[in-house]
Amino acid sequence: MRAVVTGGAGFLGSHLCERLIGRGAEVVALDNLCTGSRRNVAHLQETGRFTLVESDVSRQIDVEGPVDLVLHFASPASPLDYLRMPIETLHVGSLGTDHALCLARDKGARLVLASTSEVYGDPQVHPQREDYWGHVNPVGPRGVYDEAKRFSEALTLAYRQTHGVDTGIVRIFNTFGPRMRPNDGRAIPNFIRQSLAGDPVTVAGDGLQTRSICYVEDLVTGILKMAESGHSGPINIGNPHEISMLDLANWIVKLAESESPVVHIERPVDDPTVRRPDTTLARSVLDWSPQVEIEDALLRTIGWFREHAGAPPLSAHD
Ligand code: NAD
Ligand code: UDP
Repeated sequence: MRAVVTGGAGFLGSHLCERLIGRGAEVVALDNLCTGSRRNVAHLQETGRFTLVESDVSRQIDVEGPVDLVLHFASPASPLDYLRMPIETLHVGSLGTDHALCLARDKGARLVLASTSEVYGDPQVHPQREDYWGHVNPVGPRGVYDEAKRFSEALTLAYRQTHGVDTGIVRIFNTFGPRMRPNDGRAIPNFIRQSLAGDPVTVAGDGLQTRSICYVEDLVTGILKMAESGHSGPINIGNPHEISMLDLANWIVKLAESESPVVHIERPVDDPTVRRPDTTLARSVLDWSPQVEIEDALLRTIGWFREHAGAPPLSAHD
């Protein structure tokens, strides 16, 4: 089994590479390190079955030899990152996805696209099933990410229908765990970093908006089940454990045994109010459901952040 993972040096990508290597696969990770880090995959080099190629998949994808599976995960994912790189985000969702699909077509490989719950926007249907079309503002700040992913889904389906490429689309809901950048701006790394430093924990608005949070280990299992299946999707992969950001902040402060106060900051424009996956499809067609208790997952993640707190801030080329 030889897999290509775009975005393989990122948070989710590095965990996918690790699991694939653990199963005996050969893995080629393509990453321009705009939000990922060499450090995330350094431990895989010694296996002799892992290669990290520093390249921008929006420009081209060139991989020698056979490929059985393409996991297309390259894209800035945190709002802070994609607002900093709006055009790059649209390019990787469009041009990058086109290049990944061409690779899969030319090699006769299966391709799994990392789509997102953001395709549902600020949803007016709750929980979200795959047949909900979403409520996205294309010209709001989040549009660069949401529309890039919606386009990438449409392009993936077009390659399936036009060229017979074996494709699968997963819509990933908020996932957390070790190797998130402490400063990537997302709620969980922010809350943990702030709690461990004793700094104020920043809750946006009144904090009553919800997310449903999934541990990375469960997510990776779901993605690889999708890769092994012949399903086209889209399939929601996420943990239906829904929680308000205020409750999450207080929970993390408690688990980190911190004295940090909770403070309220301005709520971002178009910030979705609720989000929870309907996972009926994942359960029935992939026989997948999350297994790790969220409290346990938060404790493991806090432990990882604590261990890595002394390290200098992650920079791309580490
Ligand atoms: P991340 O920022 O840690 O990883 C993204 C990786 O893609 C990084 O290593 C980055 O350097 C790389 N990359 C970005 N643009 C690239 C380009 N043009 N060429 C090559 N590499 C490029 O983010 P993540 O959380 O691991 O997200 C990975 C994927 O999963 C993304 O596609 C994201 O949209 C999707 N996703 C993640 C979540 C989540 O909760 N983490 C939720 C929904 C969807
Ligand atoms: N959020 C927050 N404090 C922070 C960072 C984020 O309250 O320091 C909120 C954010 O406004 C959103 C939720 O937490 O309502 C989840 O944000 P995140 O960026 O983690 O994910 P996304 O919005 O992409 O689902």
